Amino acid sequence: MLQYWFEFKDVQNDKTPCTKKTIIWNNQDIKIDNKMVFFRTWFDKGVHTLKDLLNSNLGFLTYEGVKLRYQLRTNFLTCYGLINAIPQEYKKAIKRTSIQQEHLTQPWENLKVLTTKATHKSYMKHLFEEPTTKLRITANGLTPDQISKCFNLASSITAETKLTMFQYKTVHDKVFIKSRLFKAKLASSDLCYSCLKTKQDLKNMLVSCPVVSEFGKSFYNGMKL
Ligand SMILES: [Zn+2]
Repeated sequence: MLQYWFEFKDVQNDKTPCTKKTIIWNNQDIKIDNKMVFFRTWFDKGVHTLKDLLNSNLGFLTYEGVKLRYQLRTNFLTCYGLINAIPQEYKKAIKRTSIQQEHLTQPWENLKVLTTKATHKSYMKHLFEEPTTKLRITANGLTPDQISKCFNLASSITAETKLTMFQYKTVHDKVFIKSRLFKAKLASSDLCYSCLKTKQDLKNMLVSCPVVSEFGKSFYNGMKL
C-alpha cells in the first residue's frame, strides 16, 4: 500500500499541487535526514494527510495538539521534526487554497445578496489587525468575543464623529491623558483635571475619579427615574 502511494506520488510529481489531502508518509517533499518518513503509530491513529495535522486556523498542530487529538505517545522532537519537514511551499499553498475557498462562500458567491455592506464586511475581515492593546485587555479578563464587540462599539454606538473618535482612541489607549502629557513634559502635573487630587490615567478619567463616579451615579439614578 505504502509502496503504491510512493509510486503514485512519484508518477504524479510536479503535476499534483499540494493540498490538504496530500499524503504525509513516504512523500518525497517531506524528508527527515534526507529520508522520507513513515510513523506507523501515527498512521494507525489516523494521521494520513496534511489535513490531519491542521488546526481549525489551518496552522499546524503543536506537539500538545497532536498528542491530544490522536492520544499518541510521541515525543516533542519527533513531532516538531515532522512538522518542520513539511516544506514552506506546502504551508503557503494550504493557506492560499483556503483563502480561495473561503471567498467562494462569501457573499459574492450569490450575486443576489451582494451588497456594498456585505462586501465591505468581508473585506475588512481579511484586513483586520489585532488591537495593540489586546494583551492588556485580555489581562483584564475579556474574552476574544467581548473584545471584538468592544472594538465594534466605536462605530456602532453613535454616528457622531467626535464621539466615535473618542471611543476609538479609548479602546486603542491613544487618549492624551494628563499622566501621558506630563511624561512628555507637556503638562505641569499629572493630576486629574476634574478633582485635582489623583493621578490621571485612563481608568481614573473614565471611572474611578470621584467627580466622574459621582456624575456617573447621578446620571444612572436620573435614568432610573
Ligand atoms: Zn479626578
